[in-house]
Amino acid sequence: MTRRPLAWIDEELQTLDQLELRRRLRTHAGPQTAEIAIDGQSLINFGGNDYLGLAADPRIAAAATAAIQTEGWGSGASPLVTGHGQSHAALEAAVAQLEGAEAALLFSSGFAANVGAITALASKGDVIFSDAKNHASIIDGVRLSGARPQIYQHLDIDHLEKLIAQAAPFRRRLIVTDSLFSMDGDFAPLVELTELAAQYDAMLLVDEAHATGVFGEQGRGVCEQLGVEDQVDVRVGTFSKALGGHGGFVVGSQSLIDWLLNRARSYIFSTAAPMASAAAMVTALQIVRDEPQRRQLLLERATKLRNDLRSQGWQVGGESQIIPIRLGEPEPTMQASLRLREQGLFVPGIRPPSVPSGESLLRISLSFAHTVEHLEQLVSALDQLRDQRRI
Ligand SMILES: *Cc1c(COP(=O)(O)O)cnc(C)c1O
Repeated sequence: MTRRPLAWIDEELQTLDQLELRRRLRTHAGPQTAEIAIDGQSLINFGGNDYLGLAADPRIAAAATAAIQTEGWGSGASPLVTGHGQSHAALEAAVAQLEGAEAALLFSSGFAANVGAITALASKGDVIFSDAKNHASIIDGVRLSGARPQIYQHLDIDHLEKLIAQAAPFRRRLIVTDSLFSMDGDFAPLVELTELAAQYDAMLLVDEAHATGVFGEQGRGVCEQLGVEDQVDVRVGTFSKALGGHGGFVVGSQSLIDWLLNRARSYIFSTAAPMASAAAMVTALQIVRDEPQRRQLLLERATKLRNDLRSQGWQVGGESQIIPIRLGEPEPTMQASLRLREQGLFVPGIRPPSVPSGESLLRISLSFAHTVEHLEQLVSALDQLRDQRRI
């Protein structure tokens, strides 16, 4: 008999197919903008996270190109060996300045930032309190840390307080949350979380991945918007969403950053990003600082779109540029996504395991790059779908 030790994978994939849960890769051609060519079809793009329309900004591309000329492409090593270049240092300074923090540390992704920070802050003998809808990278960081996980119900401060009140025997306590949740588009109760953290002597880590560049007067995120930055010990962000690039970061006190530099394994044992990638993000941060109208207009349009959809009877969630339409089961959700695609609109269907079972949704992701006409087309395509009873 031939040895087929991976045969089980084909069976599992078939099961995924039957459940409408199998994912497939799409390939887009050209730059990431409001209109995108996917598998040869031109579509209005409501699936990206390029909230400020910076992914294809020529100023950022020029900064990257110039850096390649002076610093080359590859970084050659992990940061603590010889990988930390001048552009990395400049970006850390720029991030710390924009964020109003003492210091910043770059990671190769937001995922790596969460895993590295959480595992460096808590271990066996500690306890981590994590919102049930936190991002996968937080969940994995919690699991890897060896600390006791305590999952509180989404946004449920009372539940968290019950759990934390029983946590005195643990050595250290860490509360971890997204600030803006990536699928529901809703906000963590950060004011209450900072109060609980103070009352129970817990560390507080807030992941601003979807909020950096979008919320707050200076575009620092929801912590700034709610005026709690000084009470949040660890802030995580990413360059990969509103900043249109790639890579993650942590900001906080100098001693926090020094500790992560010594203990965050996803930082220590991973090659630094290309210098040009860092140089590009210095320019992106300048744009965030100099062009606040991008975030203002984005949020105004998001409010209008939510209101338009609600007045047409859609069950629309969120309070941000992430606008979910909850449809429940994977099958109708993926069908709706397909029908919209036939109309020239890319609106991804989100299903388990990205969301809990029964909570599949269409996730509309708005960008400053969308035109008013793009939004009108979306509203009318959704309306048509419903009239045809296809949702
Ligand atoms: C996208 C995301 C991350 C990961 O960031 P990447 O830079 O894409 O790795 C982390 N946390 C949250 C909440 C996210 O949405």
